[in-house]
Order: sequence, then structure tokens, then C-alpha cells
Amino acid sequence: MVGLAVGAAWLAIVVFSPAGRWVADWAWSASPGWAVLLFVTALVVVWEAVALPASVFAAVRGERRFRKGDVAVSSLLIAQFRDTCTGIVIAIAGGLVVYGAIALAGGWWWLVVGGLGAPMVVVATAVAGVTVRAAADGLPVPREALTDRLSALVERASGRRVPVREWTDPASAAPTALVTGVGPSGAILLSRSMVADWSDDEIAVVVAHELSHHVHHDLWRKAALDALVLVAALGAAHVVTVTAGPGLDVQALADLTALPLIGLTAWLAWWGLRPIRLAQSRAHERAADRYALSVTGNPEAFRTAIRRLAAQHLAEERPSTVTRLFFHRHPTVEERLTASLKR
Ligand SMILES: [Zn+2]
Repeated sequence: MVGLAVGAAWLAIVVFSPAGRWVADWAWSASPGWAVLLFVTALVVVWEAVALPASVFAAVRGERRFRKGDVAVSSLLIAQFRDTCTGIVIAIAGGLVVYGAIALAGGWWWLVVGGLGAPMVVVATAVAGVTVRAAADGLPVPREALTDRLSALVERASGRRVPVREWTDPASAAPTALVTGVGPSGAILLSRSMVADWSDDEIAVVVAHELSHHVHHDLWRKAALDALVLVAALGAAHVVTVTAGPGLDVQALADLTALPLIGLTAWLAWWGLRPIRLAQSRAHERAADRYALSVTGNPEAFRTAIRRLAAQHLAEERPSTVTRLFFHRHPTVEERLTASLKR
């Protein structure tokens, strides 16, 4: 999150100053054959060099807020460094794919990249489920009475066995539950602190809620909408680059300086379209709450669970409309509590 904000700021600097032209000229003079790779790598490395300390700072501060600093800073550093390396590889690959698509398809590059990216969003969804289940930190939940009850609940509701696991990733120390993967790769994950502190009734409600996401294929539906939004964002980036490019020293799509402009506008369009994706998420959450209430028949446990989550995630009870549209994946606490009373 912090890393992406730093990246957007850096892209804006490159687009609106002569910096992009300088780096492009340097890349061409250093090696015409490798100019694209040199150009993209130089920009990405500067971005990550600034973003890494900022992300570490944010992660350490977030950790103190939720867990009062009992997670080793070294493990956070390792996680951030790993994310940085992944970010560098993804950003370089993305830049090269865009440049290659422009060379190949000219004005239709955005459809080619979107056409490649859309299935990747879907594949990433499936892979996330497999890797989390394969990871050593996805351990079975140790409370036997609880796991039996959850297994029965899951099987009764879905007719399928979906494993319930304790999740001990240091990056997610706050109490939380999530559903990951889809189909046979799916799993329900409960954070370590939730397993430690919550009552069986409350955990059952939360698992039933997560189960709804699973049963209704919410991850697939989210992946499909994300893919559409990605194509739209790339199309918008194309239009802006072609129309505003000449005024920003981007003479042609094949110009190296087109890449930061495309990166910046695609990122802005992706963010501008975020309310669409979040509206879908909130609809999924409302449906999951209804499902949890009907499967467990325990509105009291539902309400204490919601209040606990709200307190632990420092939820705003009355967010502004803008905050809601651009940041809220869930309905407000008030909305969720009121909906549970209507039943
Ligand atoms: Zn949910």
C-alpha cells in the first residue's frame, strides 16, 4: 500500500519533469539493445529504494498498534524485503510486457496486455489458495471441540470439506478470518490471535461468514470484475497517453517515456474505478452476513463478533461517503448490526 503510493508519486515526478527523458537517453546510449530493460529497471529500483524504508516503518508501526510489539522486527524486515524483491520483478516484467505489446500491436496494446492480465488475475486467485495451504504457517486449529464443530458446520452448509486452519503470518497479527482460494484449493484461515481469544460461538459465526464467500464463489466473481476493471484502466491509460503524451514529451507510444505515463495513468484509472470493485465487495459481505446468521442462528454471537472486529480493527462507525466508496470493503459496523436485528 505504502509502496504503491510511493511508486505513483515517483511516476508523477518522472512524467512531469525531464527525469524520464534523461533516464531514457542514458538507457539508449548505454546499450540500444537493452535500453528498455535498463530504463524500466532504473525506474523500478529507485522506486523500491524509497518505498522499502517507508513500508518497513509503516509495518512496524501497524504491528505496535495491534500486537504491542511482540512480533520480531527482523521477521517484518524479511517480509518487507521479500515483497520488495517480488515488486521489482513484477514491475520490470509489467514494463517489458507493455513495451512488447506496443511493439507488437501498436494502438491495441492495452487489449493485448488486458487479455494477458485478466487470466493472470484468475490464476493468481487459485494459486493463492494452493500456496497458503501448502505454506508451513497454515496449521490446523488446535482446539479439538472447536475444530469438530467447525468441520461439521462447513460440511453441513456446503456439502464439502473445507479445511479450517490457523494462520500465523506475522504480517497479519490482527484478529481476522479469511477465505482463500477457490474450489478444491480453498481454505478458511483464522488468525492466531482470533483462535487464542475468541469464544467458540463467535468463531463459528465468523467461519460461517467466510464459508459464504466460498460457497458463493465470491473470489471468482471478484477476479472476473478485477479483470474487467484492469482492461478498462489500461484502455483509459492508452487514451490519455495518446492525447496528452505530446505535451509531456511523449512523441509516440513506442517512446520509452510513454511507459511511466502509461504506468501512472493506468494506476490512477485503477484507483478511480476502485468504488466499483468495493461496491461488489460490500455486496458480498452483506450476503455473507445473512448467510452466517441463517446457518448459525446465533445473532447474539454475530453481534459480539462484529463489535470485537470493529474494536480491534479500529473501524470508523460513521465514515464519510468518500471514505466509504474508496476504502470500505465491508458495510459499516452500524449497518451490519442493524441488518442482524431485522431478522
Ligand atoms: Zn467477508
